[in-house]
Amino acid sequence: MIRYCLINGVLTDAAQASIGLSDLGLLRGYGIFDYFLVRRGMPMFFDDYLDRFSRSAALLGLELPVSLPELKAHIFRLLEANGLSDTAIRLLLTGGYAEDSYTPTHPNWIVMQHPMPQVPARQHAEGIKLMLYRHVRELPEVKSTNYLTGIRIREALKSAGAPEVLYHDGRCVSESARSNFYIITQEGVLVTPRDKVLHGVTRKQVLQSAREIGIPVEERELLLTELPAAAETFLTSTLKGVLPVVQIDELRIGSGAPGPISTRLGEAFRARVEAYLQQQNLPEEREF
Ligand SMILES: *Cc1c(COP(=O)(O)O)cnc(C)c1O
Repeated sequence: MIRYCLINGVLTDAAQASIGLSDLGLLRGYGIFDYFLVRRGMPMFFDDYLDRFSRSAALLGLELPVSLPELKAHIFRLLEANGLSDTAIRLLLTGGYAEDSYTPTHPNWIVMQHPMPQVPARQHAEGIKLMLYRHVRELPEVKSTNYLTGIRIREALKSAGAPEVLYHDGRCVSESARSNFYIITQEGVLVTPRDKVLHGVTRKQVLQSAREIGIPVEERELLLTELPAAAETFLTSTLKGVLPVVQIDELRIGSGAPGPISTRLGEAFRARVEAYLQQQNLPEEREF
């Protein structure tokens, strides 16, 4: 059980924690969040997630009520209070309480902790199916709390036997509801959309891994018409790491099994996670 969360910096019993009804996150969906894993007490790629959190806030014109070093200290305080070393953290920032139900005032900020999530092992071993769906995320570079489409189409995904969606605009593919998308071409080039997607922290790590291994990388528009010729396809996210995709609607990708390059990138990403953990001198670097 996770006992505590933080509401505006106050350590609060998670079972009792609440937020007022006039909050713009609730009334208008005006809010952002971020989400990262903690391994052996160490938040993974901490600065990357905090930078993105503050970038999302800035893009919505919300002022973070705490500095990033303060926020870090608060997160370590929460980790300490809950006493779990392998876990996940969710940061949330909303438009705050609005008397007129519309104008952002003082943002509310929340830090929640979750048990370490698990992706079914079968999905990594066998790869998954994606269902194409035409949708363009509003403000794609913002990690907003709005997942209207992703949540609304869950039943359709289930019927299609697809655990995740692949969004497109009729010409280009962009990303999945909560993950970035990539293809490996027949020539062994990794292609992933550059614009109009959420820039994943996992994406950044995986692209660096690809460059280190010597896999050519192209960040550019990715056309729907390129999918049939793809040798491999995969998703990345904090939760999923590198997750092979072996089918998109009725299109079978490659041999229908996870491909060698996706597998190698998955290993390289796990090695980067390990290297990051080794780099951190845990107790000395903590600021309380
Ligand atoms: C969170 C998210 C991702 C993946 O980002 P990571 O930092 O790798 O977890 C991709 N797309 C969307 C829309 C997201 O919300």
